Amino acid sequence: MNLILMGLPGAGKGTQAEKIVEKYQIPHISTGDMFRLAIKEGTDLGKKAKQFMDQGDLVPDEVTIGIVEDRLNKEDCQQGFLLDGFPRTLAQAEALDQLLQNMDRSIDSVIHVKVPEDELVNRLTGRRICPQCGATYHVEFQPPKEEGICDNDGETLIQREDDQPTTVKNRLQVNMEQTQPMLDFYEEKDDLVTIDGSQQIDQVFQDIDDALQNHS
Ligand SMILES: [Zn+2]
Repeated sequence: MNLILMGLPGAGKGTQAEKIVEKYQIPHISTGDMFRLAIKEGTDLGKKAKQFMDQGDLVPDEVTIGIVEDRLNKEDCQQGFLLDGFPRTLAQAEALDQLLQNMDRSIDSVIHVKVPEDELVNRLTGRRICPQCGATYHVEFQPPKEEGICDNDGETLIQREDDQPTTVKNRLQVNMEQTQPMLDFYEEKDDLVTIDGSQQIDQVFQDIDDALQNHS
């Protein structure tokens, strides 16, 4: 089962990723973990990636693709994998396609967890954090016992700059513009599976599971 998981920030991708890898017994390959592993192993590509990251620059595609290749060649990926956070652009999707072809493999399904934009804005702007202990809350989904106050230490909760409505909307917009060409690309290849991510967590997973059984 060679899978890609896609979804905008706030779509609940992380939770679904955990459930998918548990059910299908495949490794969860997030971009961050992949880079950390390559750096830890001290590969040439890992060293290159580290240089860019240390300077606060984006790692160029040719380095990233090489790191993906190394990762997918490892033993634990032979029965399948779940890519999360990669590909991020159409160029990366096309490079991945080529890479898999060279490995005589292919993507089985691209799971797109789709949530309407206003619902995402609602989810993302409702986050509150405690500046004292770092605990996170959500005004709707995980409220503190007393509104606006941290359960642990009584500190007044704050909304991070990143979680302000304007910032959130901009971030979603940028993400959508980057994601759409990839969705079209996978749709064209008949690999795309669109899941209604606005439902309860367990129902979302049920739909993913059903779709995977039927699609591959
Ligand atoms: Zn606190």
